[in-house]
Amino acid sequence: MRKQNITGTREWACKTFNICLGCPHGCLYCWACSNAVRFGRISPEGWRKQRILCDNLPRAGKGKPTKIMFPSTHDINLENLGFCLGALDKMLNRGHFVLVVSKPNVDCIHAICKRYTKFKEKMLFRFTIGSLDNNILKFWEPNAPSVEERLLSLELAHNMGYKTSISCEPMLDCDVGKVISATLPFVSDSIWIGQMNQAKQRLKLNGAGQEALQKADELLKAQNLDFIKDLYDQYKDNSKIKWKDSIKKMLDLDRPTKPGMDV
Ligand code: SF4
Repeated sequence: MRKQNITGTREWACKTFNICLGCPHGCLYCWACSNAVRFGRISPEGWRKQRILCDNLPRAGKGKPTKIMFPSTHDINLENLGFCLGALDKMLNRGHFVLVVSKPNVDCIHAICKRYTKFKEKMLFRFTIGSLDNNILKFWEPNAPSVEERLLSLELAHNMGYKTSISCEPMLDCDVGKVISATLPFVSDSIWIGQMNQAKQRLKLNGAGQEALQKADELLKAQNLDFIKDLYDQYKDNSKIKWKDSIKKMLDLDRPTKPGMDV
């Protein structure tokens, strides 16, 4: 029997939950946007206008307790914070373990940390930082918080006693070591490293334009097999550094066989 190929969000969680369609951060490489565009649910321009799906809220937390990634196709911001807290309330009270994934707004993270002190063991924050260079972030993730705000959010959650982790996927430059050094002191769990997946296809669907396609091409050429091998050799003995499917595939490393095994 062929082994199941576990990729994307399923590397981290058994289930995902979302309460919005669209995301104002407008990341050019966004898989959720490309997926929604591909299936005709939204236009690339429409993606940046977040629509709160109130009808989803009653379904939050339904089912047997498991690992849930929240959100996976939008982010948490001041506009949808109340609905996100409502969804988190339901998931945590039901006994789920929640992986909270965000390019974090510090006020939102503060509100979440203040509210769920009794659920600290049932939560893990994962903040996305693909580069420490704000110019690079601005190009790929035009409306997302600055690197300073993301680092501040990480420090805040860590200092308030929450489990913390980083997603450096996609790596947006070759200075991955800088992201690791800046975040490691405030990371209790893991730092995930991965490449930009299906770049050409997703950028085209998202209407990202020629400059983005060219930059993605250059980025992936720079992050070639030699680069990835060096990176792996440098960090393979650090138990907090974990490798996403894109890297495991390149280096022929063992891949998870069940969803959520690598949380
Ligand atoms: S923050 Fe996430 S969901 Fe929002 S646009 Fe960026 S990649 Fe997509």
